[in-house]
Amino acid sequence: MNFPTPAEQLTYFRKQQNQVVDTIQQLVEIESPSDVKAAVDRLVTVLASRFGELGGKVRAHRAEKFGNHLEIRFKAARASDSKPVLLLGHTDTVYPIGTISKMPFRVTKGRVFGPGVLDMKGGIALMLHVIEALLEWSDGKLPLPVTVFLVSDEEVGSQSSRAITEKLARESAAVLVLEPAAGLNGAAKTSRKGVGEYELRVFGKAAHSGLDFEKGQSAVVELAHQVLAISKLVDLQRGITLNVGKISGGTRVNVVPAEARASIDVRIANKQDAPEVERRLRALEPVNPICKISLNGGINRPPMERTPGVAVLFAKATEIALELGWQLEEAAVGGGSDGNFTAALGIPTLDGLGAVGEGAHAEHESILISELPRRAALLAGLIARV
Ligand SMILES: [Zn+2]
Repeated sequence: MNFPTPAEQLTYFRKQQNQVVDTIQQLVEIESPSDVKAAVDRLVTVLASRFGELGGKVRAHRAEKFGNHLEIRFKAARASDSKPVLLLGHTDTVYPIGTISKMPFRVTKGRVFGPGVLDMKGGIALMLHVIEALLEWSDGKLPLPVTVFLVSDEEVGSQSSRAITEKLARESAAVLVLEPAAGLNGAAKTSRKGVGEYELRVFGKAAHSGLDFEKGQSAVVELAHQVLAISKLVDLQRGITLNVGKISGGTRVNVVPAEARASIDVRIANKQDAPEVERRLRALEPVNPICKISLNGGINRPPMERTPGVAVLFAKATEIALELGWQLEEAAVGGGSDGNFTAALGIPTLDGLGAVGEGAHAEHESILISELPRRAALLAGLIARV
């Protein structure tokens, strides 16, 4: 078969649409919360055999606490020394086991619903079907070598997979991340904020709130001061946000609380702001001098900045989209992905190439079925042309 024109590719993927939806169903119905290794491993086993059937060389990287990380390599037609394209994704979801019975996989009103359907089992299904198509169009070999890497801990910070992602990125020409597109117009993501997570602990002194009130030193009152101080570090103009997303403290209503804590989510748009935010958080001092505070954590994902390499990749993607008859937009988003790591290494990275939909991590998580063919054709074009 000759390599099809963009229009022919779209026709091909429209014919494949139902099969892509079937694949998404297969993946969604194997629940895979980040913290249940056995569950994620079940999905990884299925994916290993699906990619293996296409002729990929499969390697599972054993992870202790999380599901195994899955690497699959496909060779190229040309016996060239071209560097591979890295397709990046994750098998884990934020949904606990049993969610599938409350929000089952279903197809309705042109959409597919289900836990993880958008973030990002739809993206993994696209990888499978696009590789299959490219193999069919070029006599069993891909136009460029392709490495697929699916991590199992992305939703919880990617600590156990980060080093492998970075190693694979360093040996690749470009990284295409199959995380969901931004918004219902399907924009690609060309920059993402960096992400940090901190925990602030406050230690006061317990006392009976009736008998010995004045002997107590309230950790909750101290925490309240700290929360306000933290919120003053927000600088929207520079893209710096700090969200105290969770607080806890105290033991009973009639005890002056001896302990309290806060979890803080930090986002930064520029990597040079990381040391400053870190320094200002570390510089927090107790307002009540008898209380003590301690801070744990750090910035765990650098921002994905719109480097010249990212811009070139996006320009290629817009060109391919135009040939397919649409104007691909780009977006800067606050959420992080493993693309943050690869872009920070200077490897051209384009993110948000996965499914189009809405409601990631929420009950109405869904994707638009009609968008699947052109997402597939865009990915196919990028793999052929990077
Ligand atoms: Zn994701």
